[in-house]
Amino acid sequence: MQFHDSMISLVGNTPLVKLNSVTEGIQATVLAKVEYFNPGGSVKDRIALRMIEAAERSGDLKPGGTIVEPTSGNTGVGLAMVAQRKGYHCVFVCPDKVSTDKINVLRAYGAEVVVCPTAVDPEHPDSYYNVSDRLVRETPNAWKPDQYSNPQNPLSHYHSTGPELWTQTDGRITHFVAGVGTGGTISGTGRYLKEVSEGRVQVIGADPEGSVYSGGSGRPYLVEGVGEDFWPTAYDRDVADEIVAVSDKDSFRMTRRLAREEALLVGGSCGMAVVAALRVAERLGPDDVVVVLLPDSGRGYLSKIFSDVWMSSHGFLDESEGRARIADVIARKEGGLP
Ligand code: PMP
Repeated sequence: MQFHDSMISLVGNTPLVKLNSVTEGIQATVLAKVEYFNPGGSVKDRIALRMIEAAERSGDLKPGGTIVEPTSGNTGVGLAMVAQRKGYHCVFVCPDKVSTDKINVLRAYGAEVVVCPTAVDPEHPDSYYNVSDRLVRETPNAWKPDQYSNPQNPLSHYHSTGPELWTQTDGRITHFVAGVGTGGTISGTGRYLKEVSEGRVQVIGADPEGSVYSGGSGRPYLVEGVGEDFWPTAYDRDVADEIVAVSDKDSFRMTRRLAREEALLVGGSCGMAVVAALRVAERLGPDDVVVVLLPDSGRGYLSKIFSDVWMSSHGFLDESEGRARIADVIARKEGGLP
């Protein structure tokens, strides 16, 4: 018989897929690490598993305890999945810009979700960081993984994502590109690849325009899961050789191209990372191998990035493109077509 003991044993070992169309005119090989193949649908399953197992060993997480975490959704799904198998409760705190699709997924796994306003300072009592701290204090047997400061976050990538990439590329990877949210992915994977290649692999962070990593002040942007308005300790400031800032418009347009041209239905931070990877790859030669990590699937963004109406209302479609598509939607409705 061939089976896995539980969903937990399916975390990691995601595939690398070559980008063939959006790379037109580029000589370097550009490979995507497709993290939606994880059982919870994102890269965050890796950190969820490692943070929980470390907390069980240290005694911070007790049998039957409650996991409380501020998360934009993906970390929540990973935690909820692992928690369910191990008998813990989950309460998640999300900013209000997170899509309802994502929040409903967390609730489907049996987690409780508290939604907080995005447009307040991190110090404000209603900020999602402060609300989660209060919940930890008030809930008996509560444990907060704190992906922003938990060393197991970057360590999970140091021990899984990094070695996978080195093996999958047979040591030929020359550049690693990843979006930066907590900084765990780029710090852990980047450090491993630097060490194993003796400094040869270049590490590039992709960041939404306005976020602190690319010199901004934390101005709001719409790409979810990446960029910050503070410097988390999970982020190793020495690991990135370069940070590339990408606009919401470029990120979302590339996200749509990945679905249409590469058959990769992925999220907005994936489009952002690919824009950055292509900017790097443009200046490289045929022997270079660029790996870009795609954190999650596009399923959580159907009513945003993949909606013409939403894209047009934010000015992300060119005017003629937007008008033509919306006119098409109206005509179909009037004509009674689906
Ligand atoms: N993209 C998405 C959709 C995410 O949820 C996250 C995690 N916040 C990231 C990218 C960034 O990963 P990291 O936190 O490891 O920097």
